[in-house]
Amino acid sequence: MMHISYEDWVLYVKNQLDEETREQYDTHLFECGQCLSTYMEVIEAQEQQLPVMQHDEAFTDAVMIKINQQQVTEKKMPVSKFYHKPAFHYVLAAAMTLFLMSTGVFSHLMNIVSDFEANKKNEPSVVEGFMKNKVSFIDKEVQKKSEQEEKK
Ligand SMILES: [Zn+2]
Repeated sequence: MMHISYEDWVLYVKNQLDEETREQYDTHLFECGQCLSTYMEVIEAQEQQLPVMQHDEAFTDAVMIKINQQQVTEKKMPVSKFYHKPAFHYVLAAAMTLFLMSTGVFSHLMNIVSDFEANKKNEPSVVEGFMKNKVSFIDKEVQKKSEQEEKK
């Protein structure tokens, strides 16, 4: 895209461009330092040229009407309740954890888990059984050998 002229930035600042052009200028402003400085120049110049406000009261009234309208629409909007906010669920989870810990439910749960683990260990596994047989087999062989040696 070509650089944007000072005059065009004046139009941009005065909001006298069609939407499409304005969007192009928006994009270019983020990508181009040169045009950004031109744009800043335009803003500075425009600030000095700003017309003195002739109708202060009318302006204030208009702002107040806007504010009142906004307040009305805010009142109409459904009040977002505390439990509708995601943060609430984190707080709730933390509170529940603390509650469970303080009432000993957690340690109770931990006991159940360790009991379960202990029960598992009592069951002889296939490997353990195999190893025991193997050991007793070796024992017998050793015994036989020592018996044979004794006979010699
Ligand atoms: Zn540029």
